[in-house]
Amino acid sequence: MNNNLRFDSKAVHFHKRIKSESTSKAQPIYQTSAFKFKNLNELEGYFEGKSPHMYSRVSNPNTDDLGTGVAQLEGAPNGIATSSGISAILAGILSVAKNGSHIVACEDLYGGTYQLLAKELPSLGIEVSFASFESEESIRSAMKSNTVLLYSESITNPFLRVENIDLIVNIAEDTNVHTMIDNTFATPYLLQPYLKGVNLVVHSATKYIGGHSDITAGVVVGDAALVEKAKSKVMNLGSNLSPFEAWLTCRGLKTLSVRMERHTTNAQKLASFLTEHAGVEKVYYPKQASDKGNGAIVSIVLNEEIDPNLFCEKLDWIGVVPTLAGVETTVSYPIGTSHRALPASDQERLGITKQLIRISVGIEDYQDIEDTFRKALS
Ligand code: PLP
Repeated sequence: MNNNLRFDSKAVHFHKRIKSESTSKAQPIYQTSAFKFKNLNELEGYFEGKSPHMYSRVSNPNTDDLGTGVAQLEGAPNGIATSSGISAILAGILSVAKNGSHIVACEDLYGGTYQLLAKELPSLGIEVSFASFESEESIRSAMKSNTVLLYSESITNPFLRVENIDLIVNIAEDTNVHTMIDNTFATPYLLQPYLKGVNLVVHSATKYIGGHSDITAGVVVGDAALVEKAKSKVMNLGSNLSPFEAWLTCRGLKTLSVRMERHTTNAQKLASFLTEHAGVEKVYYPKQASDKGNGAIVSIVLNEEIDPNLFCEKLDWIGVVPTLAGVETTVSYPIGTSHRALPASDQERLGITKQLIRISVGIEDYQDIEDTFRKALS
């Protein structure tokens, strides 16, 4: 790929073709578990770096495409694809933390990440403290002598707080620890945390990178040495992505810019409309997240008189779907799904209430979206 290309062109031309006779315009799908060698010497040559692939759990052209494609858009030297966003987060964490390590994570994270950090990591001997990342003091006071990582999301789920990445990087540099940011909601179209000094950036590629709600995938990009370590975790834990899902995700990646442009424009308009509506008590939507807009998720607190169940039913073609980032507008219910596992006291403290609805704004004609919300609210 020509490295001088701009973001929108890179997103379309990231593929690395392996040497072949094929003149297929589209990248072929290497739907294979392993690669053939002519003889033992050639197989040995793989271990000396003379051929790129041996076994698909270790590497495959389609999964490599996804990892390196997202890395290019994030401005990072290297990247790998994984079987899900959660496996990407785990691989990233295990590349810096081990038995005896301590992590400080922001308290308003995606619920699935919270579960991984709070319920699984302790069984590996990795301790996690959750803190408000809104103040330097609160981050610093949660750190210990064995802290190795500060973890957060660039735009948090579900309250859409735009993380102060410069602050996290400054504290990490000052205290000699690593940083990791989940950039799922922003995507590299809006924010590129690696270019601000973050060591590892992870994605649930299930969301905007794939974009069509038909795959589950993850990506880790960042410092070359850390990504190498994450790669060996993926290989050893068997959390690799399948070639076909990688291929589909790469197909999604090609249209990231045009989708994000429409998603973001629609979301901005919907957030303004909902802010003015009497049926909505509060609207969460970022301000000045990036030069290209504020993202495509809008969270709202419905007025007490509105029954959330009836509201969702009246949304007609806008489905209740416990995910986000597809081309279709959908709504989800954090207290019932993504943040269900949080202790009730944390739900209450963070504001995850029965009236909270998270909207993933799609790329449809904006007027149809607004009309449908207006009708459901009335
Ligand atoms: N990170 C964020 C911000 C998410 O919203 C999600 C899922 O919703 C994940 C990570 C986990 O991704 P996956 O479901 O692909 O494992």
